[in-house]
Amino acid sequence: MSKKAEPIRSVKGTRDLLPPDTVLWNHVEEVARTVFGTFGFGEIRPPVFEPTELFARAVGGETDIVSKEMYTFEDRDDSQISLRPEATASVCRAYIEHGMHSLPQPVKLYYMGPMFRRERPQKGRYRQFYQIGAEVLEALQPGQGGPKDIPKDAAIDAEVIEMVMTFFERLGLQGVQLDINSIGDKNCRRKYVETLRAELQRVKDKLGPDSQRRLETNPLRVLDSKLENEQPIIETLPRIGDHLCADCKAHYAALRQQLDLRRVKYRENWRLVRGLDYYMRTTFEITAQGLGAQNAVCGGGRYDGLVELLGGQPTKGIGFAIGEDRLILSLQEQMRDSASLPLATRLPAGQAGHSPLVYIAWMGEKAQATAIRAAQTLRAAGFSVEWPPVEQKFGKALGQADKLGAKFALILGDNEVSSGDWTLKTLADSSQQKLTEPQLLDFLRKL
Ligand code: AMP
Repeated sequence: MSKKAEPIRSVKGTRDLLPPDTVLWNHVEEVARTVFGTFGFGEIRPPVFEPTELFARAVGGETDIVSKEMYTFEDRDDSQISLRPEATASVCRAYIEHGMHSLPQPVKLYYMGPMFRRERPQKGRYRQFYQIGAEVLEALQPGQGGPKDIPKDAAIDAEVIEMVMTFFERLGLQGVQLDINSIGDKNCRRKYVETLRAELQRVKDKLGPDSQRRLETNPLRVLDSKLENEQPIIETLPRIGDHLCADCKAHYAALRQQLDLRRVKYRENWRLVRGLDYYMRTTFEITAQGLGAQNAVCGGGRYDGLVELLGGQPTKGIGFAIGEDRLILSLQEQMRDSASLPLATRLPAGQAGHSPLVYIAWMGEKAQATAIRAAQTLRAAGFSVEWPPVEQKFGKALGQADKLGAKFALILGDNEVSSGDWTLKTLADSSQQKLTEPQLLDFLRKL
């Protein structure tokens, strides 16, 4: 006797998204498309793998993402390929590759799809996870740039943030908290980082091993520390807000004013530095409830200069990435807490799970032909229909309808077929009514 084959399991940190959860995933993505569309964004779908060099250059070789978490492999022609850990680099690459600088500026793009990072999996942190993100890119025209662009740049930043907040609001996401900061530009930040590093050197002995390592590689990341005993030390460190140059200060003030004009509520958080090298000036992060330690659902910021770093011409950029897995977790927590959530009521009827609206119970050869036609008509009208593939006694079929959670059973026997008056049973109260085919469609449409 042959040995039973071992079942193969999914790779650690990856998961299957299944119905009915996928209904919520689709709903979230649909709302994103609608809201982003109203802000003038078009969709881009970059590949999920790219030359490793793209991420090394854009995200930074020193970052955890590139140095430790990327899935990198040698292709058969010896080239180095990586699964994308994020998509901003890809969008910038595509912007250059397709000469988008010659389109009307700025170019506004959004994307959604899987990203890959080899992190330690836990609730809200996976090795394949999904992001919904958007980028605004603007190639500098001759004579453009410098301090006179500050009001325009700040307004664009504020509108991008407003768009994410509108999206979350449309989903009914609760407990949303927006944090903003300015991390300066490459000049004033460099000076600040040196000041910070010197100060950290002074208190080095009191820091844990992670912060001691970051002191060398990327001192800004020490500010991210969640370690209890490091908090009092961090509170005494120099703050970037006190070290911004005049232009960065003006930009940050204009951003806050623009957010106020849009009635977007925010909290200033001087410790918000973000993990990626390419950010400058505006950074922001959004947290939501019900997520425990991994409560950031969105991160973003400005990255003027990134396109140039990738071989394009001088270009400004601002964007964000929403962690879709976490967004969905938060919405699901909310739905558990409250049955009257706006989101639940906004899910299209009949789609909250995958229960059919109508189960067709049929008996007899003629009834089969009628059932096939009825199923086609109902499905074409957008109603979900289920029915037994072979003849089944009415009792058994109705039992199956109940099991599947159908709302109605359409009963088609010899009498119904010859009279054209079909029997529709409401399963919740067992009431029945006689309806012709057009009357049935009418009835369902009015639900
Ligand atoms: P980042 O690209 O690191 O700025 O992340 C943007 C957002 O993506 C975060 O706020 C998270 O919501 C989400 N995210 C990042 N890494 C993961 C992960 N490993 N698993 C799930 N979501 C993630």
